[in-house]
Amino acid sequence: MMRICISIAEKTLDEALAASRRAAEKSPDLIEVRIDYIHPLPDDLMKFKEIAVPKIATLRPPSQGGEFMGSDREKSILLRKALRAGFKVIDIESDSPLLSRAPNEFRDAELICSSHDLHLTPETSRIIEILIENAAKGDVSKAAFKVNSIHDVLSIVEAAMIFSSTDNEFVLIGMGELGGLTRACAGRMKCSFAYASLEPGKETAPGQLDFDTVKRLGDSPIITGIIGFPLGHSVSPQMHNAAFLSLDIPGLYLPIPTRDEELEGLLDLSLELNMMGFNVTIPHKEKIVPLLDKLDDTASKTKAVNTVVILEGEMTGMNTDVYGVAKTFEKAEMRVKGKRVLVIGAGGAARACIYFLTSAGARTSLVNRTRFRADVLADDFPGVQVIEKDDAERLPFDVIVNCTPLGMRGFPDESPISNQVFREGQFVFDTVYNPRITRFLADAQGRGAVIQSGQEMLVQQAIKAFEAWTGKSPSYEVMSEAARGAIG
Ligand code: NAP
Repeated sequence: MMRICISIAEKTLDEALAASRRAAEKSPDLIEVRIDYIHPLPDDLMKFKEIAVPKIATLRPPSQGGEFMGSDREKSILLRKALRAGFKVIDIESDSPLLSRAPNEFRDAELICSSHDLHLTPETSRIIEILIENAAKGDVSKAAFKVNSIHDVLSIVEAAMIFSSTDNEFVLIGMGELGGLTRACAGRMKCSFAYASLEPGKETAPGQLDFDTVKRLGDSPIITGIIGFPLGHSVSPQMHNAAFLSLDIPGLYLPIPTRDEELEGLLDLSLELNMMGFNVTIPHKEKIVPLLDKLDDTASKTKAVNTVVILEGEMTGMNTDVYGVAKTFEKAEMRVKGKRVLVIGAGGAARACIYFLTSAGARTSLVNRTRFRADVLADDFPGVQVIEKDDAERLPFDVIVNCTPLGMRGFPDESPISNQVFREGQFVFDTVYNPRITRFLADAQGRGAVIQSGQEMLVQQAIKAFEAWTGKSPSYEVMSEAARGAIG
């Protein structure tokens, strides 16, 4: 069973003590006190003696991500004071001259020999060499690297898998947003322990998870996430993590920024980490299709995947946006059979909408900025008529759907169509979910239409993906509340 260490980094001795007491109440296996963060450096550490949990004393220099500016001699004195104050473990950097004196100076202490690269991750073979070198100098071999790409995460995971076949105690960490994957999978990577923050907002290193989350995840968590680039707009992590928490499932949903050239590496990584699957967003929804083993009906008809499920190494693509659209119409009690529907846009969202609309018997017209793209889409869905914007603005429609990003936060605050198209009693649906009321919806409402925001679709597609990964139904209220909270 992997141990959990709460890392404390406070600016004063009193704050560090108070945080260590609160940490001890959570009964972690270890508490690390980042003494280098305490200013001025404490003369006396005896007050830590009352904290019964085994403690690690760390005095990290700036070159390795810490704030300790003193000499080796000062460091040695402080570490010995820490041992007298009941600290059991000391962390010394692999390039420190103190290491050679450690067997004499810190005789009774357990020694972590650590390396940190704040800029990059070396290749797998070099990571293993570093772990071997550190293992020769200490009881626990620790290495942390800044991960800048999916390839870096893969190098770390591979190195951990190989090094774990030795009997050495080790900790291997990827730092940064992508590094969250290595922290969530520390147990799976066979790390001896995982560092965690006391609570969210108290991280001592980028990408660190909080204690309660690490404890809930355990050694074999359900890891999911969202791949795409960029991912700043996504509220899916908040929705899915709220669902995991409310169902007390040991699961975590992480943003996994993935560039075009990293897509295949990401698939390898997801298998290596035994992930349950992931969501897919711009720009990979279509590109991922040929890389998967199987597609369900929604994905093969729309030629777009927003959810991948991994079962025994087999990757199946689904398009839960289709379900999201269907549920949106169902909840609004809007039956589209025989209705004249206008879809604006010809991307992935439009494909999901048109799949639902044509299956449900709607008479669907399509308008798009780029005519060619609309023609390609219509070829895949017989019966869909491509029309020009001028015609769209003159024809009477029962339902109008916006599938362009216009009106979304970060995009032009415009409606994709003139408000002449709206009329009393029409059903007008915007797939955009942030903000809830876009200019398109406000125009429609102003002319007496019944309006529907994309937030319902957002929550429904997430529910379907969550069910596919876990086999459990999340609460609609929990997910929509989390989405509303994240959108603001
Ligand atoms: P996409 O594949 O990039 O397609 C975007 C479509 O919008 C294309 O047809 C594009 O026209 C058109 N477009 C883009 N900018 C435009 C502009 N300035 N004026 C007119 N048309 C423009 O994107 P997508 O995946 O379909 O996503 C579109 C939107 O759907 C997203 O922004 C999101 O708000 C929404 N969405 C919502 C959910 C949900 O759960 N609520 C799920 C998925 C998507 P061209 O072909 O001419 O480039």
